[in-house]
Amino acid sequence: MIYKIKEYKNKLIEKAFKDGMREFNKFFDFNWNLGIPNICVLNSRKEIDIVKNYKSEEWLIGWADGRTIYILDNKNMEKESSHNKLSEEEYAAYIKHELCHIFYYKVSKGYHEPAWLKEGMAIYLSGQLKYKKPIKNFSNFLEFYKKGVAGVYAESGMAVKLLVENFDNKKLLNLIYNIRKIDNKKEFSKLFKKIYGFDLNYKNFNNLLHKK
Ligand SMILES: [Zn+2]
Repeated sequence: MIYKIKEYKNKLIEKAFKDGMREFNKFFDFNWNLGIPNICVLNSRKEIDIVKNYKSEEWLIGWADGRTIYILDNKNMEKESSHNKLSEEEYAAYIKHELCHIFYYKVSKGYHEPAWLKEGMAIYLSGQLKYKKPIKNFSNFLEFYKKGVAGVYAESGMAVKLLVENFDNKKLLNLIYNIRKIDNKKEFSKLFKKIYGFDLNYKNFNNLLHKK
């Protein structure tokens, strides 16, 4: 099919995008000024399905593809998805979440795995952690290596927060950069240990969580 593009002005989306670009340029140590990402706001489930080229699930309201973020218009959220309308703050955080994925893929050269790291980065850096249930103990995020499993969102944001707050960011960027050289969970664990100096397991993350 063939479509024409029309510009859409929306202050909330513009602000979320600008804030995200500034914050992620800083975090990922980029100076991304040219050929920056685009946001394409979709009106309906039908438009989502046109872009996806398949019948999408009701929960799907946005995604990042290349350097474009696709997102359902918040005013049609209830009508066109299984979600309630998001607060302005949550909608802005959602846009930043997708924008964070675009930065992540720039560093990882498009590699999505491990899913917990990719989603954890987006949850933590977008400010979505405040909408998550607090964690008493880590018990499942490491299971989510391959993408596409719903449970990945529960613990991964907190796990990344601990990595960011306790260690130099260079380690995390180095980890993401080197993902291109590995192709399974075991090799990722080895890479993690080489960079962080401790084993990738729940015990070590729980120690960080409970550290006073
Ligand atoms: Zn995501």
